[in-house]
Amino acid sequence: VKGHVAHADAITSNDAHGIASSPVVPKKKKVVLLGTGWAGMSFLKNLNNPTYEVEVVSPRNFFVFTPLLPSVTCGKVEPRSIVEPIRNIIRKKNVDISFSEAECFKIDSENKKIYCRATINSNSKGEEEFLVEYDYLIIAVGAQVNTFNTPGVEENCHFLKEIDDAQKIRKNVIESFEKASLPNLSDEERKKILHFVIVGGGPTGVEFAAELHDFVNQDVVKLYPMVQHFVKITLLEATDHVLNMFDKRITNFAEEKFGRGGIDVKLGSTVTKVGDNEISTRARGNGGPTSTPYGMVLWSTGIGPRPLIKEFMKQIGQGNRRALATDEWLRVEGFDNIYALGDCATINQRKVMEDISEIFKKADKDNSGTLTVKEFQEIIDDICERYPQVELYLKSKQVRNIFDLLKEAKRDAAKESIELNIEQFKSALSTVDSQMKNLPATAQVANQQGAYLAKCFNRMEECEKNPEGPPRFRGTGRHRFHPFRYRHLGQFAPLGGEQTAAQLPGDWVSIGHSSQWLWYSVYASKQVSWRTRALVVSDWVRRFIFGRDTSG
Ligand code: FAD
Ligand code: MG
Ligand code: MG
Ligand code: MG
Ligand code: MG
Repeated sequence: VKGHVAHADAITSNDAHGIASSPVVPKKKKVVLLGTGWAGMSFLKNLNNPTYEVEVVSPRNFFVFTPLLPSVTCGKVEPRSIVEPIRNIIRKKNVDISFSEAECFKIDSENKKIYCRATINSNSKGEEEFLVEYDYLIIAVGAQVNTFNTPGVEENCHFLKEIDDAQKIRKNVIESFEKASLPNLSDEERKKILHFVIVGGGPTGVEFAAELHDFVNQDVVKLYPMVQHFVKITLLEATDHVLNMFDKRITNFAEEKFGRGGIDVKLGSTVTKVGDNEISTRARGNGGPTSTPYGMVLWSTGIGPRPLIKEFMKQIGQGNRRALATDEWLRVEGFDNIYALGDCATINQRKVMEDISEIFKKADKDNSGTLTVKEFQEIIDDICERYPQVELYLKSKQVRNIFDLLKEAKRDAAKESIELNIEQFKSALSTVDSQMKNLPATAQVANQQGAYLAKCFNRMEECEKNPEGPPRFRGTGRHRFHPFRYRHLGQFAPLGGEQTAAQLPGDWVSIGHSSQWLWYSVYASKQVSWRTRALVVSDWVRRFIFGRDTSG
């Protein structure tokens, strides 16, 4: 190494004297990316700056298209159709990217290195550990299922996070029907085996319930007619409604549709324990737990941080958080070379009221101590970009700017003549921060964050000339580096029977068969490669014509 350095020095000094001009190739900056899920895949797909050397570390050498995982559980779509090998994505890039199938188990931010453990089964060597050094670290490890420490969940429940989970569920569902069809079983036993319980009425739980219900009505009736009457599907939800994050109309529609279809939706019902054969629940308000025999349970109640993230948060003084806090440029708080995105991270949005004097000063260009409409209008776009809650606030009040608010309050005649002093400015914006919302843990967010961060890396040189970070307001400097801004494109909730609920921006709600077609086309178009797109579409067609594959 020494010799190498000396050689490089020699070349540079020659260069300085204008004698030789062989170019010095600077050492590439090393970017280490943890995770090959939505955030990681999106970063890789969008990165095209060849001045970096990228090392990807993930226990999984493929990307999973998670929105179609529920479709895999009952055989509507094949597992292979929704995964894309990460090496397929890498080989198409002009960037130097390598991959190691391993998990990171410790981050040493002081010495800029991470500790990894190979996850490939190797009988001879056992677990293999290694170190990776980085200049930039990108943490995109996602989250894990949250069991809320409920006893028996780890041991007895299925989760639906990974492709293996979906395959296990599929196998278990089919085996349940085979088992219940064996001779010499009592009706009680058949009922128990065919009692499917879903814990959690979020999008995943609801979609699985719908898939299972479709499977029973479309295929089981033909293939296992003798046992179809023993099937029972129960959906347990601890709060008052399923699909909480959706519009009321969708929630109501889903609950009614499930009710009509014979899915037993139990609201306000908390699971206290999952035994080998029985699941115990406590209904809100009325005392003791009740136990019910079950055949299979899917646990889908939300997510929590992975051990790696928990440990790292403790290390950097974020110990009591549920996800890694970053700034709006996705940099982990306190670091300028560590980024975190997707389900493992959350953006710590700045509050307007913390910066209010500074905002006022910037806006008050003529230093008059008051803001005019014109002064405000010149800066409003920048404020909205830096503080998205302002835009949400103005929208929620159905006005375009704070002068309109003031005009209403004061019933003042001409808006143009209003000027705000700092106190009035403060009080006009005093409640905007209540509009701040954490972004949801969705593929949509992770995907946009990955693409955003890749764009930042694509123009990192420009940004490094501007080490102060991005200027806060527009107009300062040509190479402005925008903070991350999420664009919500809407969301779907497939409800079974070829019906889907769609909630698009602007609270546009549509439920039914036409949204199901929209769902098919959106999810076909969102596939990461033409290969998986072709596979998924042909799976759909196959299912329409031949029904589901029930070889388990
Ligand atoms: P992930 O996609 O989970 O990726 C994490 C990656 O990190 C994986 O490759 C993992 O192997 C790797 N990793 C884990 N630990 C380590 C470690 N220690 N070291 C290195 N690598 C590690 N969102 C939507 O927007 N729409 C939907 O319809 C939708 N449907 C869903 C259905 C299901 C069944 C599920 C489970 C999720 C669904 N989501 C949906 C949510 C979406 O999948 C997540 O929000 C998204 O995957 C988050 O992306 P991520 O990159 O942060 O994490
Ligand atoms: Mg990821
Ligand atoms: Mg994923
Ligand atoms: Mg997040
Ligand atoms: Mg002024």
